[in-house]
Amino acid sequence: MKILVLNAGSSSQKSCLYQLTGDTLPSKPPQPLWEAKIDWSVSAGLGLLEVEANETALEIQLESDDRPTGVSQMLKTLVEGKTKVLKELSQIDIVGHRVVHGGAEYSQATTISKEVKEAIARLIPLAPTHNPANLEGIEAIEKVLGDIPQVAVFDTAFHSQMPLEAAVYPIPYEWFEKGIRRYGFHGISHKYCADRVAQLLGKPLESLKIITCHLGNGCSLTAISEGKSINTTMGFTPLEGLMMGTRSGSIDPAILIYLMREHNFNADQLDKMLNKASGLKGVSGLSSDMRSIKEAISEGNDRAKLAFDMYIHRLKACIGSMLASLGGLDVLVFTAGIGENAAIVREKACEGFEFLGLKLDKDKNNSSPVDEDIAMSDSKVKILVLHTEEDWAIATECWHVMMS
Ligand code: ADP
Repeated sequence: MKILVLNAGSSSQKSCLYQLTGDTLPSKPPQPLWEAKIDWSVSAGLGLLEVEANETALEIQLESDDRPTGVSQMLKTLVEGKTKVLKELSQIDIVGHRVVHGGAEYSQATTISKEVKEAIARLIPLAPTHNPANLEGIEAIEKVLGDIPQVAVFDTAFHSQMPLEAAVYPIPYEWFEKGIRRYGFHGISHKYCADRVAQLLGKPLESLKIITCHLGNGCSLTAISEGKSINTTMGFTPLEGLMMGTRSGSIDPAILIYLMREHNFNADQLDKMLNKASGLKGVSGLSSDMRSIKEAISEGNDRAKLAFDMYIHRLKACIGSMLASLGGLDVLVFTAGIGENAAIVREKACEGFEFLGLKLDKDKNNSSPVDEDIAMSDSKVKILVLHTEEDWAIATECWHVMMS
């Protein structure tokens, strides 16, 4: 079975092709046959396409920023040139898409129909940068591959069963009825990590209390009990919760009212400030990239140190709140760019939780672990560093659709 995965972001389009044989899923994520990425942010009006397959890496300058044309050029590299891995595109059996917002309706991966596309479009006001890109990807595939089965895998789905006390905001209830509620995001990654924990520990997922820390450019935590998300840090939008690369995370909402009244900020300016000019970047004045923050700290930069300390302070506060939702903890998971690579963030995040019997093994933590437990052997809580595999999780959903 050949499964194409599309993962569209606001300024990029990632894609990969998996080939699966036999009638069971492999226990470990396989290497894709082909991987590609279009970066739309490199220069105005152009796109940069990077492709890897057959041990060849290509870079192609796209002559326009028309996204459907870009997707079809990207797909051409599957059947032409040095990265050719298919005779023809019709060999692809199914296409899976990461869709950021599925609203309250979608609690599972869903085969894409006219109604599903309408729902994704209807939810654009809730995910104004992502859902349009997801829809464009779906339509671009329709253009090139006709009526091939396509599956939407929603980042909100894993959280859709959160208990009401975690999902409802303490504002007039009528707003909840109109859709203003906590949805949660990064669900594909949080769910993948929960399943992987159970697999690596050889225990039923339902028996484990897990906190997953997805720390990338966007950051969120999820409390998982009996295999379900019972609380998470992102909310109505991916802005709530932790301090992130360029996003503020949670702040006193009265700050916004103050800025509007006293400094004439409008909605667009507030949006830009909180989403693009805050977090590590806004506080340090330097960069949203944790690597640059670490480097600046080593050179004695005080603002970078403050940004780092705030990041950890807020991370620990949110781990504490997930802990309270769970009433205990078996496994703490770190994943995504920072979670997988920044040993110092893991070390500092664990400090203060020793009272749980959680003991980090610093040597293991510093030895670039991948899918490994970095806790001491007598730690009561396991600490796992997992490589998140969102694309594989999407492919797995497609496989289930094909096999059902
Ligand atoms: P996205 O949310 O866009 O998928 P990633 O999961 O790739 O992002 O994470 C990006 C973040 O990971 C950046 O802040 C980057 O600094 C951080 N990162 C990547 N490698 C390292 C590293 N070796 N040390 C510290 N941080 C890292």
